[in-house]
Amino acid sequence: MKPAPFDYVAPRTVAEAVDALGDTGRKAQVLAGGQSLILEMHLQRVRPDLVVDINRIRELGGLSVEDGELRVGALVRHAAFESAEAAPGPLGTLLSRAVVNIAHPPIRSRGTMVGSFGWAHPASEWCAVGAALESTVEMTGPDGTRSIAAGDYFLGPHRTERRPDELITAVRLPLLHEDTGVGFLEHRRTEFCFAQVAVAVALTVNAGAISRARIGLANSADHPVRARTAERLLVGADIGPLTAGARLHDDHLFAHAGRTAAQEDAAPVDEPYADVEYKRQAVAVLVARTLLEAAADQRARLAVREGHQ
Ligand SMILES: Cc1cc2nc3c(=O)[nH]c(=O)nc-3n(C[C@H](O)[C@H](O)[C@H](O)COP(=O)(O)OP(=O)(O)OC[C@H]3O[C@@H](n4cnc5c(N)ncnc54)[C@H](O)[C@@H]3O)c2cc1C
Repeated sequence: MKPAPFDYVAPRTVAEAVDALGDTGRKAQVLAGGQSLILEMHLQRVRPDLVVDINRIRELGGLSVEDGELRVGALVRHAAFESAEAAPGPLGTLLSRAVVNIAHPPIRSRGTMVGSFGWAHPASEWCAVGAALESTVEMTGPDGTRSIAAGDYFLGPHRTERRPDELITAVRLPLLHEDTGVGFLEHRRTEFCFAQVAVAVALTVNAGAISRARIGLANSADHPVRARTAERLLVGADIGPLTAGARLHDDHLFAHAGRTAAQEDAAPVDEPYADVEYKRQAVAVLVARTLLEAAADQRARLAVREGHQ
């Protein structure tokens, strides 16, 4: 199919883009990497009458560390995070473990993290990371700039708090302390399709006990969620003598946290090839395994810091 007819503008500043998005009576879409939008337009599931191409807006290109946060501008491509050096410390590791699950290299070289927040697909890896870390979405509209926490931003499949006349200028992610271990795992049907379930974890450990747990789930509800009930179960517990790849028994804390996330935090939606019960089982298993990965990562970081790798 071909896209329905549309007009096209390519502003050079955020102010011009916001003007275009606010053009009364028009159904506008932002073109960032185009890796979701162009496909949807060809299928005519999305029929904008105006496409606002932001790729010439230089001020949207930056990746910077400011006030303890990584600020990801709207034109930073997925591929920028394939190196763990893109962000300092455990955050860089978490982003690099998540990004390799997004589609394949050509899509990662064009698509953007901010575009994933704009599209708000329930299975988006970035949105799971954003939910786990309570990232912040920065938007500019006719009334100025505002920031909104990920937990309030995602409302449902492709539904967010963003108003149609607002441009997302950046997403901000908190840097993670060196005492934090990270993990990211997902389950998908074939190599390049969207995740049936994905899990992002950041586990902060002091003197062997978990002081903070952050768990984000993708495709486990109609929007990305944070598994707060499972997190509460973990805080204060000792992580014990774990190694990556070890088998978890049903009575292990992480297995218990996985089952809790599946029953209390997830609200799965039926899909072809993955019904609600299947997804709950996938959440239970993946949360447990991702916690194990994060615990092993934390141990490895500690060993390096203490000089006995
Ligand atoms: C075959 C295939 C497989 C894929 N697999 C995955 C996958 O496994 N995981 C995954 O997460 N994604 C996947 N994607 C989607 C891909 O990651 C996209 O890059 C991403 O969803 C959107 O980023 P984009 O920059 O391409 O946005 P675009 O396609 O340009 O825009 C997408 C939507 O977001 C809005 N938008 C974009 N930027 C902004 C902004 N700055 N402000 C306001 N609104 C904005 C647009 O209006 C549009 O509605 C896949 C895509 C394809 C084609």
